[in-house]
Amino acid sequence: MSREWSPSSWRGLPIAQASKLSCVLNKLKTLPPLVTPSEVNRRLRHQLSTVQDNMAFLLHAGDCAESFEACTHENITAKIGLILSFSLILIWGARLPIVRIGRIAGQYAKPRSSGTEIIDGREVLSFRGDNVNDISADNRTPNPERLLSAYFYSTTTLNYVRSLLSSGFASLNHPRDWSLSHVRSPTLRAEFERVSEGLADALDFSRTVGAEAEGSYENGGRRGVLGEVDFYTSHEGLMLHYEEALTRFLPMPSSRLRRERPDSHAYYNTSAHFIWVGDRTRQLDGAHIEYFRGIRNPIGVKVGPSMKSDELIRLLDIVNPDRQSGKVTLITRYGAAKVDQYLPAHIAAVRQSGHPVIWVCDPMHGNTQVSNTTGHKTRHFSNIVRELTMCLAIHAECNSRLNGVSLEFTGEMNDEGFSVTECLGGSMELVEDELPLRYQTFCDPRLNFEQSLDLAFLVSNHFKN
Ligand code: PEP
Ligand code: MN
Repeated sequence: MSREWSPSSWRGLPIAQASKLSCVLNKLKTLPPLVTPSEVNRRLRHQLSTVQDNMAFLLHAGDCAESFEACTHENITAKIGLILSFSLILIWGARLPIVRIGRIAGQYAKPRSSGTEIIDGREVLSFRGDNVNDISADNRTPNPERLLSAYFYSTTTLNYVRSLLSSGFASLNHPRDWSLSHVRSPTLRAEFERVSEGLADALDFSRTVGAEAEGSYENGGRRGVLGEVDFYTSHEGLMLHYEEALTRFLPMPSSRLRRERPDSHAYYNTSAHFIWVGDRTRQLDGAHIEYFRGIRNPIGVKVGPSMKSDELIRLLDIVNPDRQSGKVTLITRYGAAKVDQYLPAHIAAVRQSGHPVIWVCDPMHGNTQVSNTTGHKTRHFSNIVRELTMCLAIHAECNSRLNGVSLEFTGEMNDEGFSVTECLGGSMELVEDELPLRYQTFCDPRLNFEQSLDLAFLVSNHFKN
Protein backbone atom coordinates (compact mmCIF):
# COMPACT_ATOMS: atom_id res chain seq x y z
CA MET A 1 0.00 0.00 0.00
CA SER A 2 1.40 3.34 -1.02
CA ARG A 3 -1.01 5.54 0.87
CA GLU A 4 0.68 7.99 3.26
CA TRP A 5 0.06 7.19 6.89
CA SER A 6 -1.01 9.79 9.45
CA PRO A 7 -2.79 9.42 12.76
CA SER A 8 -6.05 10.38 11.02
CA SER A 9 -5.53 8.54 7.75
CA TRP A 10 -8.00 5.89 8.88
CA ARG A 11 -10.78 8.46 8.52
CA GLY A 12 -12.90 8.00 5.44
CA LEU A 13 -12.10 4.26 5.15
CA PRO A 14 -14.68 1.59 5.98
CA ILE A 15 -14.48 0.83 9.69
CA ALA A 16 -16.05 -2.42 10.79
CA GLN A 17 -17.08 -1.82 14.41
CA ALA A 18 -18.08 1.80 13.87
CA SER A 19 -20.44 0.95 11.03
CA LYS A 20 -22.01 -1.56 13.36
CA LEU A 21 -22.20 1.26 15.90
CA SER A 22 -23.98 3.59 13.48
CA CYS A 23 -26.46 0.82 12.55
CA VAL A 24 -27.23 0.35 16.22
CA LEU A 25 -27.58 4.08 16.82
CA ASN A 26 -29.86 4.47 13.80
CA LYS A 27 -32.04 1.72 15.18
CA LEU A 28 -32.09 3.29 18.66
CA LYS A 29 -33.17 6.60 17.16
CA THR A 30 -36.35 4.97 15.82
CA LEU A 31 -37.31 3.18 19.05
CA PRO A 32 -39.86 4.70 21.41
CA PRO A 33 -38.87 6.83 24.42
CA LEU A 34 -38.77 5.15 27.82
CA VAL A 35 -40.09 8.17 29.68
CA THR A 36 -42.20 11.20 28.79
CA PRO A 37 -41.69 14.98 29.16
CA SER A 38 -44.64 15.05 31.51
CA GLU A 39 -43.00 12.59 33.93
CA VAL A 40 -39.61 14.26 33.59
CA ASN A 41 -40.45 17.90 33.75
CA ARG A 42 -43.85 18.28 35.23
CA ARG A 43 -43.67 15.61 37.89
CA LEU A 44 -40.05 14.90 38.78
CA ARG A 45 -38.74 18.42 38.38
CA HIS A 46 -41.67 19.80 40.30
CA GLN A 47 -40.99 17.31 43.10
CA LEU A 48 -37.28 18.14 43.07
CA SER A 49 -38.19 21.80 43.56
CA THR A 50 -39.96 20.78 46.74
CA VAL A 51 -36.81 18.88 47.79
CA GLN A 52 -34.75 22.00 47.15
CA ASP A 53 -37.17 23.98 49.31
CA ASN A 54 -36.68 21.49 52.18
CA MET A 55 -40.25 20.23 51.88
CA ALA A 56 -39.26 16.74 50.73
CA PHE A 57 -36.15 14.52 50.92
CA LEU A 58 -34.46 12.74 48.01
CA LEU A 59 -33.50 9.07 48.06
CA HIS A 60 -31.30 8.13 45.11
CA ALA A 61 -30.29 4.49 45.31
CA GLY A 62 -29.65 1.18 43.62
CA ASP A 63 -26.84 -0.82 42.09
CA CYS A 64 -23.46 0.56 41.17
CA ALA A 65 -23.92 -1.32 37.90
CA GLU A 66 -26.95 -3.26 36.75
CA SER A 67 -26.26 -6.36 34.71
CA PHE A 68 -28.29 -8.01 31.97
CA GLU A 69 -28.12 -11.32 33.80
CA ALA A 70 -29.52 -9.86 37.04
CA CYS A 71 -32.63 -8.56 35.23
CA THR A 72 -35.03 -10.97 36.92
CA HIS A 73 -38.39 -10.73 38.58
CA GLU A 74 -36.84 -11.49 42.00
CA ASN A 75 -34.06 -8.93 41.73
CA ILE A 76 -36.25 -6.08 40.52
CA THR A 77 -38.84 -6.80 43.22
CA ALA A 78 -36.11 -6.88 45.87
CA LYS A 79 -34.63 -3.58 44.66
CA ILE A 80 -37.92 -1.76 44.64
CA GLY A 81 -38.84 -3.35 47.99
CA LEU A 82 -35.64 -2.08 49.60
CA ILE A 83 -36.03 1.43 48.18
CA LEU A 84 -39.59 1.50 49.51
CA SER A 85 -38.62 0.14 52.94
CA PHE A 86 -35.80 2.67 53.21
CA SER A 87 -38.09 5.52 52.24
CA LEU A 88 -40.78 4.39 54.65
CA ILE A 89 -38.29 4.63 57.53
CA LEU A 90 -37.25 8.09 56.34
CA ILE A 91 -40.83 9.31 56.04
CA TRP A 92 -41.42 8.15 59.60
CA GLY A 93 -38.43 9.99 61.04
CA ALA A 94 -38.24 13.07 58.86
CA ARG A 95 -42.01 13.54 58.53
CA LEU A 96 -41.38 14.60 54.97
CA PRO A 97 -42.43 13.15 51.62
CA ILE A 98 -39.62 11.19 49.93
CA VAL A 99 -38.78 11.53 46.26
CA ARG A 100 -37.42 8.17 45.06
CA ILE A 101 -35.02 7.90 42.14
CA GLY A 102 -33.61 4.43 41.46
CA ARG A 103 -30.25 3.70 39.88
CA ILE A 104 -32.22 1.32 37.70
CA ALA A 105 -33.50 0.58 34.18
CA GLY A 106 -30.34 1.79 32.41
CA GLN A 107 -27.48 1.94 34.93
CA TYR A 108 -25.10 -0.22 32.86
CA ALA A 109 -22.12 1.91 31.77
CA LYS A 110 -19.17 2.30 34.15
CA PRO A 111 -16.33 4.83 34.05
CA ARG A 112 -12.98 3.20 34.88
CA SER A 113 -9.80 4.64 36.32
CA SER A 114 -7.68 2.48 34.04
CA GLY A 115 -8.26 1.13 30.51
CA THR A 116 -6.86 -2.28 31.35
CA GLU A 117 -6.58 -4.56 34.36
CA ILE A 118 -4.64 -7.66 35.29
CA ILE A 119 -6.72 -10.82 35.70
CA ASP A 120 -4.93 -14.11 36.52
CA GLY A 121 -1.64 -12.54 35.47
CA ARG A 122 -3.04 -11.43 32.10
CA GLU A 123 -3.60 -7.82 31.04
CA VAL A 124 -7.13 -7.44 29.64
CA LEU A 125 -9.38 -4.50 28.77
CA SER A 126 -11.30 -3.21 31.79
CA PHE A 127 -14.96 -4.15 32.12
CA ARG A 128 -16.92 -1.01 31.16
CA GLY A 129 -20.42 -2.22 31.90
CA ASP A 130 -22.80 -4.68 30.25
CA ASN A 131 -23.71 -2.16 27.54
CA VAL A 132 -20.08 -2.09 26.36
CA ASN A 133 -18.32 -5.42 26.96
CA ASP A 134 -18.61 -8.67 28.88
CA ILE A 135 -17.56 -9.13 32.49
CA SER A 136 -15.79 -12.36 31.54
CA ALA A 137 -12.08 -11.64 31.10
CA ASP A 138 -12.17 -13.70 27.86
CA ASN A 139 -14.69 -11.45 26.18
CA ARG A 140 -13.75 -7.85 26.82
CA THR A 141 -13.92 -6.59 23.22
CA PRO A 142 -16.56 -3.82 23.08
CA ASN A 143 -19.62 -4.76 21.03
CA PRO A 144 -21.97 -1.95 19.89
CA GLU A 145 -24.93 -4.34 19.83
CA ARG A 146 -24.78 -4.30 23.60
CA LEU A 147 -26.25 -0.78 23.46
CA LEU A 148 -29.33 -2.18 21.82
CA SER A 149 -29.57 -4.91 24.45
CA ALA A 150 -29.22 -2.21 27.13
CA TYR A 151 -32.21 -0.39 25.65
CA PHE A 152 -34.33 -3.55 25.74
CA TYR A 153 -33.19 -4.58 29.23
CA SER A 154 -33.98 -1.05 30.44
CA THR A 155 -37.40 -1.28 28.84
CA THR A 156 -38.13 -4.66 30.41
CA THR A 157 -37.00 -3.46 33.82
CA LEU A 158 -39.01 -0.27 33.61
CA ASN A 159 -42.06 -2.15 32.38
CA TYR A 160 -41.93 -4.41 35.42
CA VAL A 161 -41.33 -1.48 37.78
CA ARG A 162 -44.34 0.32 36.34
CA SER A 163 -46.45 -2.85 36.77
CA LEU A 164 -45.37 -3.22 40.38
CA LEU A 165 -46.23 0.39 41.10
CA SER A 166 -49.62 0.25 39.46
CA SER A 167 -50.65 -3.01 41.07
CA GLY A 168 -50.46 -1.89 44.69
CA PHE A 169 -47.07 -3.44 45.59
CA ALA A 170 -45.63 0.00 46.29
CA SER A 171 -48.53 1.23 48.33
CA LEU A 172 -47.45 2.48 51.74
CA ASN A 173 -50.58 0.76 52.97
CA HIS A 174 -48.93 -2.67 52.55
CA PRO A 175 -45.28 -2.34 53.64
CA ARG A 176 -45.20 -5.99 54.71
CA ASP A 177 -45.26 -7.06 51.08
CA TRP A 178 -41.78 -5.66 50.54
CA SER A 179 -39.40 -6.86 53.03
CA LEU A 180 -39.95 -8.38 56.39
CA SER A 181 -39.00 -11.86 55.32
CA HIS A 182 -35.50 -10.51 54.61
CA VAL A 183 -34.89 -8.95 57.98
CA ARG A 184 -33.07 -11.48 60.14
CA SER A 185 -32.07 -9.31 63.08
CA PRO A 186 -34.92 -9.40 65.67
CA THR A 187 -34.21 -5.80 66.77
CA LEU A 188 -34.25 -4.46 63.21
CA ARG A 189 -37.37 -6.46 62.50
CA ALA A 190 -39.17 -5.11 65.56
CA GLU A 191 -38.14 -1.56 64.73
CA PHE A 192 -39.35 -1.88 61.13
CA GLU A 193 -42.64 -3.39 62.31
CA ARG A 194 -43.14 -0.50 64.70
CA VAL A 195 -42.62 2.03 61.90
CA SER A 196 -44.85 0.27 59.39
CA GLU A 197 -47.65 -0.24 61.94
CA GLY A 198 -47.36 3.41 62.94
CA LEU A 199 -47.66 4.47 59.34
CA ALA A 200 -50.61 2.15 58.69
CA ASP A 201 -52.36 3.72 61.70
CA ALA A 202 -51.61 7.22 60.45
CA LEU A 203 -52.97 6.41 56.99
CA ASP A 204 -56.08 4.83 58.54
CA PHE A 205 -56.60 7.90 60.69
CA SER A 206 -56.25 10.24 57.70
CA ARG A 207 -58.76 8.16 55.80
CA THR A 208 -61.19 8.17 58.72
CA VAL A 209 -61.11 11.95 59.02
CA GLY A 210 -61.55 12.28 55.27
CA ALA A 211 -58.04 13.48 54.45
CA GLU A 212 -57.86 11.18 51.46
CA ALA A 213 -60.62 12.99 49.62
CA GLU A 214 -59.53 16.49 50.58
CA GLY A 215 -55.88 15.87 51.11
CA SER A 216 -54.99 14.42 47.73
CA TYR A 217 -51.82 16.26 47.02
CA GLU A 218 -51.17 18.29 43.94
CA ASN A 219 -48.29 16.31 42.59
CA GLY A 220 -46.85 18.41 39.84
CA GLY A 221 -50.15 18.53 38.07
CA ARG A 222 -51.18 14.98 38.97
CA ARG A 223 -53.61 14.07 41.69
CA GLY A 224 -52.05 11.60 44.08
CA VAL A 225 -53.75 9.16 46.41
CA LEU A 226 -52.68 8.96 50.02
CA GLY A 227 -50.20 6.15 50.54
CA GLU A 228 -49.36 5.72 46.85
CA VAL A 229 -45.82 6.48 45.71
CA ASP A 230 -43.98 7.82 42.70
CA PHE A 231 -40.75 6.32 41.47
CA TYR A 232 -38.23 7.58 38.92
CA THR A 233 -35.32 6.06 36.99
CA SER A 234 -31.75 7.29 36.58
CA HIS A 235 -28.30 6.34 35.34
CA GLU A 236 -24.92 7.94 34.75
CA GLY A 237 -25.06 9.67 31.35
CA LEU A 238 -21.73 8.24 30.27
CA MET A 239 -22.31 6.71 26.83
CA LEU A 240 -23.04 9.85 24.86
CA HIS A 241 -23.82 7.97 21.64
CA TYR A 242 -26.62 6.18 23.45
CA GLU A 243 -27.87 9.27 25.26
CA GLU A 244 -27.93 11.23 22.00
CA ALA A 245 -29.90 8.50 20.21
CA LEU A 246 -32.58 8.70 22.90
CA THR A 247 -32.65 12.50 23.04
CA ARG A 248 -35.86 13.69 21.44
CA PHE A 249 -37.26 17.12 20.58
CA LEU A 250 -40.68 17.00 22.20
CA PRO A 251 -43.47 19.35 23.16
CA MET A 252 -43.56 20.68 26.70
CA PRO A 253 -46.02 18.82 28.86
CA SER A 254 -48.28 21.72 29.70
CA SER A 255 -51.10 22.14 27.20
CA ARG A 256 -51.44 25.78 28.31
CA LEU A 257 -47.79 26.44 27.47
CA ARG A 258 -48.17 24.61 24.20
CA ARG A 259 -51.07 26.82 23.20
CA GLU A 260 -49.31 30.02 24.22
CA ARG A 261 -45.95 29.16 22.74
CA PRO A 262 -46.23 26.86 19.75
CA ASP A 263 -42.40 26.76 19.59
CA SER A 264 -42.19 25.38 23.10
CA HIS A 265 -40.53 22.09 22.23
CA ALA A 266 -37.41 21.09 24.11
CA TYR A 267 -34.78 18.35 24.05
CA TYR A 268 -35.45 15.57 26.55
CA ASN A 269 -33.26 12.62 27.34
CA THR A 270 -35.96 9.95 27.14
CA SER A 271 -33.79 7.05 28.37
CA ALA A 272 -34.40 7.96 32.04
CA HIS A 273 -36.11 10.60 34.14
CA PHE A 274 -32.83 11.79 35.67
CA ILE A 275 -29.24 11.35 34.53
CA TRP A 276 -26.05 12.39 36.24
CA VAL A 277 -22.55 13.29 35.14
CA GLY A 278 -19.80 11.36 36.91
CA ASP A 279 -16.83 12.73 38.81
CA ARG A 280 -14.46 11.55 36.06
CA THR A 281 -16.30 13.14 33.11
CA ARG A 282 -17.42 16.55 34.36
CA GLN A 283 -14.67 18.68 32.74
CA LEU A 284 -16.03 22.13 31.85
CA ASP A 285 -14.76 21.91 28.27
CA GLY A 286 -15.57 18.22 27.83
CA ALA A 287 -18.16 16.39 25.76
CA HIS A 288 -20.30 15.34 28.71
CA ILE A 289 -20.98 18.82 30.08
CA GLU A 290 -21.63 19.98 26.53
CA TYR A 291 -24.31 17.28 26.23
CA PHE A 292 -25.81 17.86 29.67
CA ARG A 293 -26.29 21.60 29.16
CA GLY A 294 -28.86 21.06 26.41
CA ILE A 295 -31.37 18.67 27.92
CA ARG A 296 -34.50 19.59 29.83
CA ASN A 297 -34.27 16.75 32.38
CA PRO A 298 -33.24 17.41 35.95
CA ILE A 299 -29.60 16.34 36.25
CA GLY A 300 -27.10 15.29 38.89
CA VAL A 301 -23.44 16.33 39.11
CA LYS A 302 -20.98 14.28 41.16
CA VAL A 303 -18.73 16.51 43.22
CA GLY A 304 -15.50 15.04 44.61
CA PRO A 305 -12.41 16.47 46.28
CA SER A 306 -10.85 17.52 42.96
CA MET A 307 -13.68 20.00 42.27
CA LYS A 308 -12.52 23.60 42.77
CA SER A 309 -15.11 26.05 44.12
CA ASP A 310 -14.90 28.40 41.12
CA GLU A 311 -15.07 25.43 38.78
CA LEU A 312 -18.28 24.31 40.48
CA ILE A 313 -19.88 27.68 39.91
CA ARG A 314 -18.76 27.81 36.27
CA LEU A 315 -20.24 24.36 35.83
CA LEU A 316 -23.56 25.50 37.31
CA ASP A 317 -23.53 28.55 35.00
CA ILE A 318 -23.15 26.21 32.03
CA VAL A 319 -25.75 23.59 32.92
CA ASN A 320 -28.32 25.88 34.55
CA PRO A 321 -27.89 29.38 33.10
CA ASP A 322 -31.54 30.28 33.83
CA ARG A 323 -31.15 29.12 37.43
CA GLN A 324 -34.20 26.91 37.31
CA SER A 325 -35.35 25.39 40.52
CA GLY A 326 -35.16 21.58 40.85
CA LYS A 327 -32.81 21.36 37.86
CA VAL A 328 -29.42 20.52 39.42
CA THR A 329 -28.64 18.04 42.17
CA LEU A 330 -25.09 18.19 43.53
CA ILE A 331 -24.09 14.72 44.71
CA THR A 332 -21.08 15.19 46.99
CA ARG A 333 -18.68 12.27 47.51
CA TYR A 334 -15.50 13.34 49.25
CA GLY A 335 -14.84 10.46 51.65
CA ALA A 336 -15.21 10.49 55.44
CA ALA A 337 -11.67 11.78 55.88
CA LYS A 338 -12.11 14.71 53.49
CA VAL A 339 -15.68 15.91 53.75
CA ASP A 340 -14.88 18.60 56.34
CA GLN A 341 -12.05 19.89 54.16
CA TYR A 342 -14.16 20.46 51.02
CA LEU A 343 -17.88 20.68 51.73
CA PRO A 344 -17.97 24.01 53.64
CA ALA A 345 -16.21 25.88 50.80
CA HIS A 346 -18.51 24.34 48.20
CA ILE A 347 -21.59 25.32 50.21
CA ALA A 348 -20.26 28.88 50.62
CA ALA A 349 -19.42 29.26 46.91
CA VAL A 350 -22.82 28.01 45.78
CA ARG A 351 -24.61 30.26 48.24
CA GLN A 352 -22.62 33.27 47.09
CA SER A 353 -23.39 32.50 43.43
CA GLY A 354 -27.11 32.41 44.13
CA HIS A 355 -27.51 29.13 42.19
CA PRO A 356 -30.41 26.99 43.38
CA VAL A 357 -29.19 23.43 44.03
CA ILE A 358 -30.22 20.26 45.80
CA TRP A 359 -27.50 18.96 48.13
CA VAL A 360 -27.19 15.19 48.26
CA CYS A 361 -24.59 13.14 50.12
CA ASP A 362 -23.11 10.08 48.42
CA PRO A 363 -21.18 8.47 51.30
CA MET A 364 -20.14 5.50 49.16
CA HIS A 365 -17.69 6.58 46.47
CA GLY A 366 -15.13 8.38 48.61
CA ASN A 367 -14.94 5.43 51.01
CA THR A 368 -13.94 2.54 48.79
CA GLN A 369 -11.03 0.44 50.00
CA VAL A 370 -9.43 -2.91 49.19
CA SER A 371 -9.57 -5.62 51.84
CA ASN A 372 -6.07 -6.62 52.95
CA THR A 373 -7.36 -10.06 53.83
CA THR A 374 -9.29 -11.05 50.70
CA GLY A 375 -8.39 -8.43 48.08
CA HIS A 376 -12.07 -7.50 47.54
CA LYS A 377 -13.10 -3.92 46.85
CA THR A 378 -15.18 -3.00 49.88
CA ARG A 379 -16.50 -0.16 52.06
CA HIS A 380 -16.79 -0.02 55.80
CA PHE A 381 -20.22 0.81 57.19
CA SER A 382 -18.64 3.04 59.83
CA ASN A 383 -16.97 5.24 57.16
CA ILE A 384 -20.25 5.50 55.27
CA VAL A 385 -22.02 6.56 58.47
CA ARG A 386 -19.20 8.97 59.32
CA GLU A 387 -19.34 10.81 55.99
CA LEU A 388 -23.13 11.00 56.12
CA THR A 389 -23.24 12.21 59.74
CA MET A 390 -20.53 14.80 59.06
CA CYS A 391 -22.38 15.96 55.96
CA LEU A 392 -25.56 16.49 58.00
CA ALA A 393 -23.62 18.37 60.67
CA ILE A 394 -21.63 20.53 58.23
CA HIS A 395 -24.78 21.58 56.37
CA ALA A 396 -26.38 22.52 59.69
CA GLU A 397 -23.28 24.50 60.77
CA CYS A 398 -23.23 26.31 57.43
CA ASN A 399 -26.90 27.21 57.71
CA SER A 400 -27.63 24.89 54.82
CA ARG A 401 -29.53 21.62 54.73
CA LEU A 402 -28.83 18.20 53.34
CA ASN A 403 -31.62 17.42 50.88
CA GLY A 404 -30.99 13.76 50.19
CA VAL A 405 -28.76 10.70 50.05
CA SER A 406 -27.32 8.73 47.15
CA LEU A 407 -26.53 5.11 47.96
CA GLU A 408 -25.40 1.88 46.40
CA PHE A 409 -27.45 -0.89 47.97
CA THR A 410 -29.24 -4.05 47.00
CA GLY A 411 -32.07 -6.16 48.37
CA GLU A 412 -30.76 -9.14 46.32
CA MET A 413 -30.81 -12.48 48.11
CA ASN A 414 -29.43 -15.87 47.17
CA ASP A 415 -31.70 -18.94 46.95
CA GLU A 416 -31.37 -19.58 50.69
CA GLY A 417 -32.47 -16.01 51.46
CA PHE A 418 -29.05 -14.65 52.45
CA SER A 419 -28.09 -11.13 51.46
CA VAL A 420 -24.86 -10.10 49.75
CA THR A 421 -21.57 -9.66 51.64
CA GLU A 422 -19.86 -6.72 49.97
CA CYS A 423 -19.60 -3.98 52.64
CA LEU A 424 -18.08 -4.47 56.12
CA GLY A 425 -19.73 -3.79 59.48
CA GLY A 426 -23.31 -2.75 60.21
CA SER A 427 -25.49 -4.39 62.85
CA MET A 428 -24.62 -7.78 61.29
CA GLU A 429 -20.92 -6.94 61.91
CA LEU A 430 -19.68 -8.38 58.64
CA VAL A 431 -15.93 -9.02 58.78
CA GLU A 432 -13.29 -9.22 56.04
CA ASP A 433 -13.15 -13.04 56.02
CA GLU A 434 -16.87 -13.10 55.18
CA LEU A 435 -16.60 -10.93 52.06
CA PRO A 436 -16.18 -13.88 49.64
CA LEU A 437 -19.34 -15.61 50.94
CA ARG A 438 -21.75 -13.76 48.65
CA TYR A 439 -19.80 -11.07 46.84
CA GLN A 440 -21.96 -10.53 43.75
CA THR A 441 -21.52 -6.96 42.57
CA PHE A 442 -20.51 -6.24 38.99
CA CYS A 443 -18.71 -3.12 40.11
CA ASP A 444 -18.64 -1.32 43.47
CA PRO A 445 -19.61 -2.99 46.79
CA ARG A 446 -23.22 -2.37 47.86
CA LEU A 447 -24.85 -2.24 51.26
CA ASN A 448 -27.04 -5.30 51.77
CA PHE A 449 -30.61 -5.32 53.05
CA GLU A 450 -29.81 -5.20 56.77
CA GLN A 451 -26.99 -2.65 56.41
CA SER A 452 -29.30 -0.43 54.35
CA LEU A 453 -32.02 -0.50 56.97
CA ASP A 454 -29.40 0.27 59.65
CA LEU A 455 -28.52 3.38 57.67
CA ALA A 456 -32.16 4.30 57.09
CA PHE A 457 -32.81 4.26 60.86
CA LEU A 458 -29.75 6.35 61.46
CA VAL A 459 -30.88 9.11 59.08
CA SER A 460 -34.47 8.80 60.25
CA ASN A 461 -33.44 9.20 63.90
CA HIS A 462 -31.29 12.18 63.03
CA PHE A 463 -34.35 13.98 61.68
CA LYS A 464 -36.56 12.85 64.53
CA ASN A 465 -34.26 14.27 67.21
C1 PEP B 1 -21.01 5.82 40.59
O1 PEP B 1 -21.92 6.55 41.01
O2 PEP B 1 -21.12 4.59 40.46
C2 PEP B 1 -19.70 6.46 40.27
C3 PEP B 1 -18.82 5.88 39.47
O3 PEP B 1 -19.53 7.61 40.93
P1 PEP B 1 -18.41 8.76 40.84
O4 PEP B 1 -18.54 9.35 39.45
O5 PEP B 1 -18.84 9.69 41.91
O6 PEP B 1 -17.09 8.12 41.10
MN1 MN C 1 -20.32 3.00 42.01
